[in-house]
Amino acid sequence: MGLSSYQVVITDCDHGSIEEEKEELGRIGAELILAQARGEEALIRSCQEADGLINQYALLTRRVLENLPRCKVVARYGVGVDSIDLKAATDLGIIVANVPDYCIDEVASHTVAMILTLARKTAFFDRKVKSNQWDFRQGVPIDRIQGKTLGLIGCGRIGFEVAKRISAFGVKVLAFDPYIQKVAEGMELTDLETILKKSNFISIHCPLNESTRHLIDEKEFQKMERKPFLINTSRGPIVSEKALIKALEEGRISGAGLDVLETEPPDSRNPMLKMENVIFSPHVGFYSVESISELKRRTAKNVADVLMGKQPRYVVNREVTGKTRASISID
Ligand code: NAD
Repeated sequence: MGLSSYQVVITDCDHGSIEEEKEELGRIGAELILAQARGEEALIRSCQEADGLINQYALLTRRVLENLPRCKVVARYGVGVDSIDLKAATDLGIIVANVPDYCIDEVASHTVAMILTLARKTAFFDRKVKSNQWDFRQGVPIDRIQGKTLGLIGCGRIGFEVAKRISAFGVKVLAFDPYIQKVAEGMELTDLETILKKSNFISIHCPLNESTRHLIDEKEFQKMERKPFLINTSRGPIVSEKALIKALEEGRISGAGLDVLETEPPDSRNPMLKMENVIFSPHVGFYSVESISELKRRTAKNVADVLMGKQPRYVVNREVTGKTRASISID
């Protein structure tokens, strides 16, 4: 098959342009089509000739995949692959690939920005000055950052980058992560109890799953001895919002920085919206011009790699090895 006979279809996407994807797939001479298809019939029709798919939200059900005879790979923009029937893809020999690490710098820097904003009360003072109140005493007391302790819950790609950045401020880093054996020099691997007890800042960087849902609940807030600031840039349901509100109302913690919530966007009656020591951002941790461009490029590259007979960087359904339509073995 000549290079230029490959066809790749973007099932749907809400990105403003597809220039990066075009450039990446242009390198292997593939034709790129943006379908914006939703619903089984529309997907089957528009992806009929596709050798590879790029997918955002459109549901790639078993029925859709079974009706795409040429499809060798589905690449999802981002981390989650809920839109794809993984079992069906594996049964059919279709490789599913994702991009789990396009925004590590963004989320880590966003987390540190929240830590500093809370500790130095910059958002609080900004609001005061803009309402004609020029008086630093309104924010008293403020504790020195240097010498304090940050406890990380989850120390993978993002947690590690947070640790690296915050160390420059003279902050000691403790980490709780049951799935790693060692951490970088200067950090200490410990248990959850110690994190809760000894931290001045607690930052969450583990994934959301059945064992981490409400990992931080009333019992955990009660163990926080140093009135820490809690920062969550991971997933809202890891923290029980009810328990968080109670801890804030009772003054058990000094404040919170939240990029993610149990319900996004929050209900307008959520009491945290009126709390001076709680700062929010609208689940924006992942975003920068560069991270989105990287995401688009790497998603397209996953497809290009498979069509060129190479294993893509991140394969989600490793069990597909041995029966891939693209004749690639996955290690
Ligand atoms: P990662 O897989 O590299 O790291 C996650 C770490 O959590 C791993 O080291 C794992 O061992 C650990 N872990 C798993 N279960 C745990 C538990 N029960 N207790 C403590 N640690 C546990 O992932 P990452 O790239 O660092 O991303 C972390 C999370 O950040 C993601 O799961 C995602 O939810 C979130 N995220 C948020 C945004 C945003 O826009 N705010 C963007 C990207 C990722």
